[in-house]
Amino acid sequence: MTERTELRRQVRDLCRSRRDEGRYRPRADAWLRSFDLEFSRELARHGWIGMTWPRRVGGAERSNVDRLVVTEELLRAGAPVAAHWIGDRQIGPSILRHGTPELQREILPGIASGDHVLCLGMSEPEAGSDLAAVRTTARPTAGGWRVDGRKIWTSHAHRATHSYLLARTERTERKHDGLTEFLVDMDSPGITVTPIVDMAGSHHFNEVVFEDVFVPAGRVIGVAGQGWRQVTEQLAHERGGPERVLSTYPVLAGLLTANAEWDEGLLVELGELVARLGTLRAMCVRVAEALDTGTSPIREAATLKYLGTEFERDVLEFARGAAVPGVLAPDDPLGEAILAAPGFSIRGGSSEVLLSILAKQEAL
Ligand SMILES: Cc1cc2nc3c(=O)[nH]c(=O)nc-3n(C[C@H](O)[C@H](O)[C@H](O)COP(=O)(O)OP(=O)(O)OC[C@H]3O[C@@H](n4cnc5c(N)ncnc54)[C@H](O)[C@@H]3O)c2cc1C
Repeated sequence: MTERTELRRQVRDLCRSRRDEGRYRPRADAWLRSFDLEFSRELARHGWIGMTWPRRVGGAERSNVDRLVVTEELLRAGAPVAAHWIGDRQIGPSILRHGTPELQREILPGIASGDHVLCLGMSEPEAGSDLAAVRTTARPTAGGWRVDGRKIWTSHAHRATHSYLLARTERTERKHDGLTEFLVDMDSPGITVTPIVDMAGSHHFNEVVFEDVFVPAGRVIGVAGQGWRQVTEQLAHERGGPERVLSTYPVLAGLLTANAEWDEGLLVELGELVARLGTLRAMCVRVAEALDTGTSPIREAATLKYLGTEFERDVLEFARGAAVPGVLAPDDPLGEAILAAPGFSIRGGSSEVLLSILAKQEAL
């Protein structure tokens, strides 16, 4: 057995035993919706959070392809991984790439141990697809910065210990200039978190208001004013992972194992879905390999997210159309997945915006 196959087996066994003990119920979209700090800490004890990072900051110095094996198994299992997902996937790597050694030492070990929970303060009421239009400002002050503004759709802000924050630090002619990335303590005075309940009735995202919030100088990630270049690199991590393909995997697994009499047409459609999944997995491996060479596969990640969320939606459409007995059991994830699905092609960059990024890159 290769080392990677053994790693896959270990993650699979852990998920199965925690599920069988009743620790969690497999859910669609679990990476956003299923939050269990203790489960994340157990993964951390195995070295499966921050696993590509250097040992000096709590990592395990494994490859991004190894990390893909772990994330893929967690997503297949519909396991509760939301507590560490954002820190492990994108803010940790961003701090590793751009943060000072002091910031790395201060923050990364806590993410790798599952003690720090990160949220993502990018979107604002007037800045979603057009992220460079952010109006939240950070003004220089003695020893740091003072932040004022409003972020929206901030997943798990109500549970986070730290927030990534994109803010305007200079008024410039070009809106892409003068942006800066920060890491903010969520218990800083002046931060108010208000829940937003989605149409499935669940509370995972929030509005976050910053009123004269002090952020120490050492909490700038990278270079002040260079936030745009840095955040576009970060989006490759945000868009290029298997969670953009496997949010509805528990539904697909239910279909594949259902004890149903399939007619031939449906069987062909199901086979096509499985074949598409194979191609998308190969694309995930390519993105992980690119990250291992130190590049930022922005275009490949945008392609993967676009095609992956189309696939996730088609799995649900198929399940709805097939209405296979057994798939629609009361604890089946299909209903939840259908209610979550409208967000798949919006979060992390809408499909229209991804197509426009790809078209512009083709034109270069
Ligand atoms: C479940 C979920 C979780 C989220 N979590 C977070 C989070 O943790 N942190 C965070 O910062 N944000 C988060 N978001 C916000 C998400 O990133 C934004 O919703 C997304 O970037 C789109 O922005 P918007 O909602 O302002 O829509 P808009 O930008 O207003 O877009 C509305 C529609 O117009 C289309 N459109 C806009 N511009 C163009 C264009 N130039 N060309 C063609 N079509 C266009 C879009 O495709 C979309 O269909 C989350 C969103 C969801 C759904």
